[in-house]
Amino acid sequence: MLPKYKRVIIKLSGEALAGDKGFGIDPGTIKEISHKIKDASELGVEIAIVVGGGNIWRGRDGEGIDRATADYMGMLATVINALALQDALEHTGVDVRVQTAIDMKEIAEPYIRRKAMRHLEKGRIVIFASGTGNPYFSTDTTAALRAAEIDAEVILSAKKVDAVYDSDPKLNPNAKKIDKLTYIEVLNKGLKVMDSTAISLCMDNNIPVLVFGLDNPENIVKVLCGENIGTIVKE
Ligand code: UDP
Repeated sequence: MLPKYKRVIIKLSGEALAGDKGFGIDPGTIKEISHKIKDASELGVEIAIVVGGGNIWRGRDGEGIDRATADYMGMLATVINALALQDALEHTGVDVRVQTAIDMKEIAEPYIRRKAMRHLEKGRIVIFASGTGNPYFSTDTTAALRAAEIDAEVILSAKKVDAVYDSDPKLNPNAKKIDKLTYIEVLNKGLKVMDSTAISLCMDNNIPVLVFGLDNPENIVKVLCGENIGTIVKE
């Protein structure tokens, strides 16, 4: 199979690492995802990963906690996930580096754009941790920002649901799968593809977002090879 892309960002939500438990890190799930990411990197695609933290902590869930503090807690959660993913990927035999937007030099490299790009050119997988390093943002926005910075051609947004639907498929059995959307449609219809900051950044920088399901980890390789699964958001 020939890949369609040269350099991509894979956005993995924290939940994707939790498996059926919905919380924490499931060793079997992270192992399975890592093997598929390895297969994808062996196609010759340069892969950077932005990992979320929702399986451990989300800023907006921190009732009674100052929002900025709760968001910093969320960013720390992404570091835990990034280290787990680095370890699991390394066990598959690929080279991986974690770069963090909040300095913690004993744990990971700081985020340095040119260094990240050099790692990618050398075939290493780069995991971006700590989101953007700023409260009030999300890891979806991080994916959009890093994609623009490192010239990634597409954001592959791995979700629990296999695509975007016109209503919640869990609540409505007649929900229709949407194959294509424009950025403006996502914003106007309030579709939960990404938050509005992230979508706006993608729109302004013309970065397509491909939403697909991680129910089958094989899908990572399929989307990289241009198979029409999931939903594409573009101009
Ligand atoms: N976060 C933040 N700034 C960022 C990225 C993330 O403050 O640039 C915090 C925010 O509280 C968020 C949490 O980290 O809720 C975890 O990220 P996110 O909710 O995007 O993870 P996901 O839902 O993808 O697992």
